[in-house]
Amino acid sequence: MADSNSDLEIVIGLEVHVQLSTKSKAFCQDEVAFGGTPNTRISPISLGHPGTLPQPNALQMEYAIKLGLALGCQINQKSFFDRKNYFYADLPKGYQITQDNTPICGQGIISIEMGKEEKSIRINRIHMEEDAGKSIHDQDPLHSLIDLNRAGTPLLEVVTEPDFRSAEEVAVFLNKLRQLVRYLAISDGNMEEGSMRCDCNISIRKKGETTYGNRCEVKNVNSIRNAKRAINFEANRQIELIQKGITIDQETRSFNAQTGDTLTILRSKEDAHDYRYFPDPDIPPIIISDERLAAIKASMPKLPQALKKALIAKGLSPYDAEVITSEKALADYYFSMLSFSKNPKSAANWLTNTIKSYLNEAQIGIEEFSISPKTMVAMIQLVDEDKINKLSATQKLFPALIKKPEIAPLDLATQMNLLQANDTNAMDEWVEIVLAKYPDKVDAYRKGKKGLLGMFIGEAMKISKGKANPKQLNSAFLARLAD
Ligand code: ADP
Ligand code: MG
Repeated sequence: MADSNSDLEIVIGLEVHVQLSTKSKAFCQDEVAFGGTPNTRISPISLGHPGTLPQPNALQMEYAIKLGLALGCQINQKSFFDRKNYFYADLPKGYQITQDNTPICGQGIISIEMGKEEKSIRINRIHMEEDAGKSIHDQDPLHSLIDLNRAGTPLLEVVTEPDFRSAEEVAVFLNKLRQLVRYLAISDGNMEEGSMRCDCNISIRKKGETTYGNRCEVKNVNSIRNAKRAINFEANRQIELIQKGITIDQETRSFNAQTGDTLTILRSKEDAHDYRYFPDPDIPPIIISDERLAAIKASMPKLPQALKKALIAKGLSPYDAEVITSEKALADYYFSMLSFSKNPKSAANWLTNTIKSYLNEAQIGIEEFSISPKTMVAMIQLVDEDKINKLSATQKLFPALIKKPEIAPLDLATQMNLLQANDTNAMDEWVEIVLAKYPDKVDAYRKGKKGLLGMFIGEAMKISKGKANPKQLNSAFLARLAD
């Protein structure tokens, strides 16, 4: 890898395909879904029968514009669909419908956070297109099988400028893109199921050089981890060649997830396909009216960066704000808590610690969490108001409430006998019991071993079976021992 001492620099640009979560395909009403019995979600249009007419999907345009706005792109209110001609068994029409020179979204810019540094990544374009079918080569020894369920699935292709300088930057960007498509609810963003696939273009140049080196494109990488592996492998391969004085041929390569290698798959770019793009004569220009654009803008949810800022302004730490906004569902839960709570910090504390670790352990998302935000806040208030202590709350009441979320936390705490005794008589009694039990420790304390106070409080907590209020015990002991 190009280490920091090296005079070489890695340059990376991405082409990311995002599969949209529309109900129907890009140009017909076949259902969009993952997997299932092959060739069941097809029709004459996705099979490319002659004489059929494609009809663009209004949601695909809306989703493209939403992603464009989120990535700071210019929106082109007039754009066209083109035919990209090539022959392949899983493309029965003989062409893919895509956008060539007139994408729906033009240039944009998005910042990524690398530790404390912010870095801008320029977006070249976002265009709409359709997916091809799937060829399956490993199920029959003699034949390749074709499944056309995926043919015609709506995709967005996000093309970045070659602005990345390391695999880590790419990983941060892909994470952010996935987070955004989930916030916008335009794709599930599951790379493993192919909902986000990434082509990584990689080249090497001398640091300080203003032109780019020849690039290789690694196709269809299907996870963020594999994108990092593919980039690092490919960069090393090119660096070794360059250091031997060999020039890099522009070519398309594939990534082998088992070995971590990249391999040549197609002929080099010099004689690559000529796709003979031309405007699709069956589809009129895509016109987005001012009103429609305004309506889409108005329907945009608040995005993670803005939410994070708002939370920091409420007094949360940048870390808590980051954790809470990492997923939209978590942020939604938090804001719902805030509508019942006067204490944003303690709500954040509970969410990022106790609730989050429970969710991790149970391996569920916040959507499946049984306690409603309102009940959760009622429970937190019991602690904030000293009605029950924090330890009984996290270790006893919280787990019980998960099982019985319909019971009011105060009632449940009463049933479980967890309410903290705040009355001074009981407190004084516990203090006396402890002092009587440890006369020599009391002596040592009075002679200066002030650290024993913690032990006295601990003992009194035990005797009270966890019901004593530790803060009140603290002052009671101090007052009593000052005599
Ligand atoms: P095409 O594949 O149609 O020729 P482009 O040349 O615009 O398209 O680039 C496709 C992708 O390759 C973009 O993501 C771009 O950032 C990236 N790219 C272009 N040149 C380089 C390079 N020299 N090194 C790394 N990435 C590059
Ligand atoms: Mg390309």
